[in-house]
Amino acid sequence: MKIFVVNCGSSSIKYKVYDMTDESVLASGLVERVGSDEAVLTHEPAGGGRQTVPLGHADHNKAMRDVLARLTDPDVGVLDSLEEIAGVGHRVVHAGERYSESARIDQAVIDVIEDHFPLSPLHNPANLAGIRASIAAMPDTPQVAVFDTAFLATLPRTAWMYPVPMEWYEKHRVRRYGFHGTSHKYVTRQAAALLDRPADEVNLITCHLGNGASITAVAGGHAVDHSMGMTPLAGVMMGTRCGDLDPAIIFYMLQEGFSAEQIDNALNKKAGILGVSGVSNDMRDLLAACDSGNERAHLALDMYVYRIAKYIGAYRAILPALDAVVLTGGIGENSVPTRAALCARLAGLGVILDGQANAATTGGKTGRITVDDSAMAIWVVPTNEELMIARDTAELV
Ligand code: AMP
Repeated sequence: MKIFVVNCGSSSIKYKVYDMTDESVLASGLVERVGSDEAVLTHEPAGGGRQTVPLGHADHNKAMRDVLARLTDPDVGVLDSLEEIAGVGHRVVHAGERYSESARIDQAVIDVIEDHFPLSPLHNPANLAGIRASIAAMPDTPQVAVFDTAFLATLPRTAWMYPVPMEWYEKHRVRRYGFHGTSHKYVTRQAAALLDRPADEVNLITCHLGNGASITAVAGGHAVDHSMGMTPLAGVMMGTRCGDLDPAIIFYMLQEGFSAEQIDNALNKKAGILGVSGVSNDMRDLLAACDSGNERAHLALDMYVYRIAKYIGAYRAILPALDAVVLTGGIGENSVPTRAALCARLAGLGVILDGQANAATTGGKTGRITVDDSAMAIWVVPTNEELMIARDTAELV
């Protein structure tokens, strides 16, 4: 069975074609600058022969038609005809409380995606544009929506409710939704298999540490708490986002003469690792600056690790038991010094790093980075959101 996975942004379309018999990737690619006169398609068949093609002016519909034309192209294509595609899986960022599982796309699903435009103004409209373009190009092929929020829809009310006036939730939908759900779901399933635990019995703390970062407490295979909030600004410190802070800081900065827009921009784009270090939002740059003795870089790294350790401690307290802490995302999967610093911060919980295993587990490798005697097992499990989307799509079609 062949599955076409689409991740559509406001000016980009990322795609992969999977052969689900062995979950191999047949082709992948990316259209950039969708909506402009300079759209560019980069298409890469698995066997090599990467192509970069200017598309001229391309909206989402034209870009999608061009991508599909590549897939069946006699030279660089990987399909004889589009009829080989058994289903299209679309990443959809926000479905709020409405879906806790992926869903076949029908009018009701489209209505829900539209209904969540106000809560996801950057992503949901782009995701829907991709869905519409895909339906227009392949009207008879089943389409599936895989929601980032779905895995987190199982949070208990105690965890998702904010202590605000009840009508903020009832009238304005103010609550914790969470993000990165597809990644947390994927690594939860992988970890259950690695630990030889039934998928519905595994207890984990999964840490998605990329440029954006979030942490999920998983009990019995289901998410029970999560660090991001109504928006992806909350939780741990990130590349450019602040994570948790005193909400009154915003009113104070308004009184200091900053506009709401300036504060919003600063907390989303100029805070976090970048804001504290003044160096970069990228962990590799931060570590290089630490090595050259930059004090602000050291402070940023220390704060970054400290805030993650506090979440792990808090989630350990609310879980009935813990099989493992799972690290994933660009930093979780690759950054040996950051992981070592995190394990040192968790020494109070009995965590003992295995330095050799830590150094060896990078570049897409899976493995445990704590010694057998460590009171808490810490695992590195590379994430694969596209494969999770492909699996859910295959299951539903
Ligand atoms: P992501 O958003 O998951 O792509 O992760 C991006 C983050 O991962 C950036 O902060 C990168 O610096 C970090 N990252 C990627 N590769 C490495 C590496 N080899 N060592 C340290 N950090 C890395």
